[in-house]
Amino acid sequence: MKRVGSVGDRPERRVRGVEALAGSGRDFPKRRGYGYNRPMTIHFDLHTTDPASGARLGTLHTPHGAVPTPLFAPVGTQATVKTMTPRDLRSLGAGLILANTYHLFLRPGADLVQRMGGLHGFMDWDGPILTDSGGYQVFSLAHMRKLDADGVTFRSHIDGSLQRFTPESVMETEQKLGADIAMCLDECPDPLDRAANERALLRTHAWAARCRAAHTRPDQALFGIVQGGIFPDLRGESARFLAELDFPGYAVGGLAVGETKAQMIATLAHTCPLLPSAKPRYLMGVGAPEDILEAVAQGIDLFDCVLPTRIARNGALLTHAGRLNIRNAQHAAAPQPVEEGCTCYTCQHFSRAYLRHLFKAGETLGLHLATLHNLHFMLRLMEQIRAAIADGSFVAFKERFLAGYQLSDQEARARNRQARRETLAAVA
Ligand SMILES: [Zn+2]
Repeated sequence: MKRVGSVGDRPERRVRGVEALAGSGRDFPKRRGYGYNRPMTIHFDLHTTDPASGARLGTLHTPHGAVPTPLFAPVGTQATVKTMTPRDLRSLGAGLILANTYHLFLRPGADLVQRMGGLHGFMDWDGPILTDSGGYQVFSLAHMRKLDADGVTFRSHIDGSLQRFTPESVMETEQKLGADIAMCLDECPDPLDRAANERALLRTHAWAARCRAAHTRPDQALFGIVQGGIFPDLRGESARFLAELDFPGYAVGGLAVGETKAQMIATLAHTCPLLPSAKPRYLMGVGAPEDILEAVAQGIDLFDCVLPTRIARNGALLTHAGRLNIRNAQHAAAPQPVEEGCTCYTCQHFSRAYLRHLFKAGETLGLHLATLHNLHFMLRLMEQIRAAIADGSFVAFKERFLAGYQLSDQEARARNRQARRETLAAVA
C-alpha cells in the first residue's frame, strides 16, 4: 500500500493512522517493523567512548527506526541512491539515507513530494532520511548566485530560472520533504580563506537562529552546522554559538573541500570536544574509508558521501588493499571476485572478468553490481568500526586497516573534491 494522494503533515497522518488502526487499518501501512509507537523526535544514546581515542558508539533513534553509530549514509541526491532499489539498500543493511534539498526543490518540487507522502512515501524508503539544506550546492555555483543578508538568489542549473533561498524558505521546503533530519541553511566558504570565513560565520549564525525559529515540524530534527574553515578560534566561536541554540544534533561543515587531510583532522580534533557530547555529530560530505577512520577517532558519529556510489559507476571498486579499477586489462580474464571473502551479492556470483565485460560493453548491470559492492564495503566497514569500539580494539583496527589500504593523501583529497563536484552535476 503506497501513501499516494493523501495530504498533510505526518503528525496529522499519524493521529489519523492510529485511529485507523483501531478501525479498518487503512491509510497507515505497517512495514517491516516500523510500528505505530515510533518516537516522534530524534534522540541519541551515547553508549561508550573509546578511552584510547575519541571514538563513540551510539544509537540514533528517529521516527523511522533506530540506527547504530558511527554510521555511513549513502547519498540519494535525487531521492534515489543511483542504481539501487530501496530493497537493495535494505538488504545491504543501510540505515540512514541522504537526499538533497537543492535538487528536489528544483525538480520535482517540494509540494509534489509532500503530496506523495513526503520523501519516505515518494521514494518508498521507510528508514531514516536526512536532507541537507541545499546551501552547499547554491554556494558552489558561485557564478550563478547573489548573496545578501536575508538569503541567496541563484539560477536553476536545469532551466536557468531565477530562484531564492532564505532560512525560512529552506525550512518550509525541508519540512515538506519530511526527512527525519533537516539541516540549517549555512554559508560554506573556502576553508582556507580567513576573511571569507569571518564574514560567512556571522551570516551562518544569523541564519541558524532563523532556521531554528522557523522550524516547527515536531517529528523532524533540525541540526546546526558548525563552520569556520580551518581556523580554531572561528570553529570554537561557531560551536559555542550553535550549542547555545540547543540543536538536537550538530554537523561539522566546510571540510573536505580543499584543505589537506592534516588540516581536516586538526579541525575535527579542535571542534568535536566543543560540541555537546550527548548530541550526535555529523561530518558532512566525507566518505573515503581512510577519512572516516580518522574522523571516527575524533568523535564523529555520522557520515555521508557520494564517493562510494559515484566511483562505482566509473568502475572503481573498494577493497581492503585500496581501489581497484575493473576496466584495467589485467582483469580481462580474471576468474576471481572483486574481493576474496567479500559476502556481497556481486562477489558471491560474478568474476572480475564478467564485471569488466559489463563496463566495457556499457551494460547498466555493471553500474548496479559495482554500486552494490562498494556500498556493502562501506557499510561492512562501519560494522567493523562499531564492533572494534565495542570491544576496545578500535585504535588497533584503524591502524591495521590503514596499513593495508593503499591510497595517497593527495589522491584521497582529489577524490573527495571530485565527489563533491559530482553532487552538483548529479542530474543524470
Ligand atoms: Zn563484494
